[in-house]
Parts: sequence; C-alpha cells; structure tokens
Amino acid sequence: MRFQQTIGKAISVSGVGLHSGERAELTIHPAPPSTGLVFHKVTSGVLEACPATIQCLHPTDLCTALSFNAFQIQTVEHLLSALSGLEIDNASLELAGNEIPALDGSSAPFVKLLQEAGIIEQTIPRTYLKIVHPISVERGNKSLTVYPAPLQKISYSIEYDHPLIQSQTYVHHSSPTEFQRNIASARTFAFKEEVEGLWSRGLGMGGSLENTLVFSDTELLNETGLRYTDECVRHKILDLIGDLALLGVPVIGHFIADRAGHQLHAELVTAINANPDSWILINTDVEGNTTDSLVPDQDSKRSTAPEAHHVYSSF
Ligand SMILES: [Zn+2]
Repeated sequence: MRFQQTIGKAISVSGVGLHSGERAELTIHPAPPSTGLVFHKVTSGVLEACPATIQCLHPTDLCTALSFNAFQIQTVEHLLSALSGLEIDNASLELAGNEIPALDGSSAPFVKLLQEAGIIEQTIPRTYLKIVHPISVERGNKSLTVYPAPLQKISYSIEYDHPLIQSQTYVHHSSPTEFQRNIASARTFAFKEEVEGLWSRGLGMGGSLENTLVFSDTELLNETGLRYTDECVRHKILDLIGDLALLGVPVIGHFIADRAGHQLHAELVTAINANPDSWILINTDVEGNTTDSLVPDQDSKRSTAPEAHHVYSSF
C-alpha cells in the first residue's frame, strides 16, 4: 500500500511569468489527505480556489492554463510536473499574480523547493487510475495513446526540421528518482522566429535566455548550452507529466507520444476522463505492484476531475 503525500512546511518563490512578463509570488502549503492540488488566490478581495483538474482546463496552443469563474491562472504545467514527479498528492498553491513564475524554464527550481520543505507521508492510501483499454487521440501526424501496462512509462518522440533537434526519442520509467535525474531540469524551448511572433501577440513577454532555450536557424542562442543533448524531448515529457496531473490521480499505463504537445495532452486527459470503461481505480500493494483487489465497483467510480481547469501549453 502506498500512502498519499504532502509537504512538511510552506515554501515561497517569486519570479516573472513566461507569457505575461508579470511578477508573481507562489507559496506552496501542506494540505490534508484527499485535498488534491488546489490553486488559491485573492480575486477582488475574495479568496478563491481552483482545483488543478481537467474541468478547469482552458486549452491553448502555448501553455497550460486554468480558469474557474473569475479565477484565471497561466502556465501551471512545470509546477504541476514537479509536484506529480515527486508524487506529492496534496498541496495548496497560493498565487499572488496570474501566472506561475517561469524561474529557469524547467521544473528543477520547484523540485529543489519541495525537497527543502520535505515530503511527508499521510494516512490515506494513494489511488491510481489503471488503464485497461487503450485510449488514443490524434491530429494529423501527431498522436498520443495510452496502453495498459504494469507501471507508468512514457515514450515520447519529436521531430523538428532543425539541425540541433531533428528526431529525438526518450523513454521515461516514471519514479521520483528518474524524474529528478532525467526530466526535471529540461527547459522549455522555442525558435527565434516563433519568439518574435509571440511577442507581437503579447505572449512570451517574460521569455528570455534565462528561462527558455532559443534556437536560431542554425544554432542555440543560449551560451550555457544544453543540459542534455535531447533536452527538448525530455521537456515534452516534463510537460506531459504536468498535464496528466489534471486527472487528479496518477495513471498506470504506457503513454506513447509522437509529435504531441499541450493541445494533444489536454485532449488525452479529457478522453481518459470521458471513458471510465477504459480504466479502473486501484490502490497498490506493499511491494508497490498494482493489485486489483481494491478495485471499486462501477458505482464507486468517479470523475477524476471534480472541477474545471485550463491548460495553456508552453513551448
Ligand atoms: Zn513546458
């Protein structure tokens, strides 16, 4: 049996949002079992809550955003990826501002903060969503499918007509250790002409070489170079992990992504939520292997997305 987790104490970080360019402060608080990940902020003098679930998803092509009534929050995916990657189930995410700080464009600064806060086991078992029938979404030559598998695994492929990226494939066997070692530090990326187009639309205003890998036609503009030779595909996996957090429970299955992105991630999350016959909810046994002994009956199945969210994809 695995138990839910939260953090040991509140932690804060501030910085500029990637798209808005506005400064914001985020404080992550511990939360009781079965709370989930819930954003809070004061809007017009009232403290409002917005759970990080699919119902609050606001699809865009650039980042993952959430909205609930007057509550809007942008670029949540790198924070959610850090929480999900470290298997933190419950936290209150209090934001003063409208966009999560970009920091270095990866999940690594959030991981460092969460580790400093400490990860605390709680008293209620974790629930997992185990895929039992494949679910697939596609758009043109882009596709994303999740197949039944004993553990969570993500196989991601990208292809760009750029000499420094070209075809990249990475297979991630999900665990906190693998996430911290191989995924969390991968930064968001963009192309020089794309950045100029974003600026003209009022997006990417907080983007810089401090928080985004920027490729010209022939080279990487960041003097610090790449953290991994295949940093781009690893960042896509980071984004997918963050977007999958909107299901509210970890998924057991093998994800195979081909040229996907935030839009397709959001469509798969929506498709999983809409197809309860393709999965079951389970707990895990003491070895960490799944067992169906705790599978609830049909009536106890619930939507894993109690309220709505928005996903804006970042680069
Ligand atoms: Zn991203």
